[in-house]
Amino acid sequence: MHEMGLMASMVELLSESARHNQIEKINRVKLVVGKMSMALPDALQLAFDVYKADDLFRSDAVLEIEERETRGKCRSCGRCFPVLDNVLFVCPDCRGLDVEVISGRELYIDHYEGEDGNVDDD
Ligand SMILES: [Zn+2]
Repeated sequence: MHEMGLMASMVELLSESARHNQIEKINRVKLVVGKMSMALPDALQLAFDVYKADDLFRSDAVLEIEERETRGKCRSCGRCFPVLDNVLFVCPDCRGLDVEVISGRELYIDHYEGEDGNVDDD
């Protein structure tokens, strides 16, 4: 399950960013995951559950995943269209095969929320 490794690098990034922003505990992370990124949302959730035990996260921290569908753009006629099976890239208009992938390969942390360790909650 390579999602475990992906999550490990994301946790590293989050940890660095949290330190930089004086955030003590992270309670929410949002990822954008393209259908072509080869990362499975379910597996990412499982991996997150493992890493959630880390001091960096609150025990009730949540991982939100936004899935992006694969979209292609035909270089012949300019039409943008959803690619349903990730394998066959054919323009539905002109049947052209010169298709550029414009979304679906994303895999990144959109944003995260955390708690500032220095905040007085009164
Ligand atoms: Zn076309």
